[in-house]
Amino acid sequence: MYVFKGSNDLQQYLRRLRSKDASIGFVPTMGALHEGHLSLIRQSQADNQFTICSIFVNPTQFNETSDLEKYPRTPGNDIAMLCGARCDVLFLPTVAEVYPAGLDTEVDVDLGQLDRVLEGKFRPGHFAGVVQVVRRLLNLVQPDRLYMGQKDYQQFTIIREMIRQLKLPVEIIMAPIVREPDGLAMSSRNTRLSPADRLAAPIIYKTLREARQLSKTKTPAAVRSWALEQLQTAGLRPEYFELVDGETLQPISALGDSDSAVACTAVWAGNVRLIDNVVF
Ligand code: AMP
Repeated sequence: MYVFKGSNDLQQYLRRLRSKDASIGFVPTMGALHEGHLSLIRQSQADNQFTICSIFVNPTQFNETSDLEKYPRTPGNDIAMLCGARCDVLFLPTVAEVYPAGLDTEVDVDLGQLDRVLEGKFRPGHFAGVVQVVRRLLNLVQPDRLYMGQKDYQQFTIIREMIRQLKLPVEIIMAPIVREPDGLAMSSRNTRLSPADRLAAPIIYKTLREARQLSKTKTPAAVRSWALEQLQTAGLRPEYFELVDGETLQPISALGDSDSAVACTAVWAGNVRLIDNVVF
């Protein structure tokens, strides 16, 4: 596997690939890799001749400095995992490489209501940072296909909208959520859970699954109240639990109002914030 830290070196390598007409799949990550990330790499490998993974802990998407500082960083392990997965290239840029013109460069996309709900409501500025970094990384890598996880459902929806509005020549592909055997969605943040919170955390997925069942007979409002209570009773602090339309991300008042409902939740377990979702 090649590891590039500078974008000039990456560009030189990419020029060679393009001259061979090779298809390129791209998996952007923030590192502390786990099986969920590797599933994206494998999907890209199945669809493309070359797979590029990036690891960049993007400062502009953290609305709290302490979260940025506490974000796990395991570069040695990440490189070993990517080599084991036979990833072709790892792009490991510095902040200056990604943001040569400074951190406050904005991307001109109108997200409408997409970034005002769910995560957007609780993490102001988060999606502006995500849009900014993915735009920049797409610019540098210019892949044929971009792989992102359903785990960050709202992020996927927003990046798909950015690609559509900017007419970027890249296909975006959603990969399913990879879970621990007890149902907890894999996340780099899971390593920060205390033993007690780790034991409690699988209730998140259990509640999402049961909500899907309950929604067949109860209104979204009733399901939401039930779910919030379940999570609280388990000792977790839910920030939101919403049944939304899978395209617009707007809350739905009846299941029949939406072709593709999604239940999305964000929950604090101790000082770790976990998100998860289930598509109905
Ligand atoms: P992150 O490093 O958290 O920014 O995640 C990088 C990519 O991996 C994003 O597209 C995530 O949605 C995806 N991802 C994170 N966790 C999982 C998971 N458990 N299963 C599948 N994809 C995931």
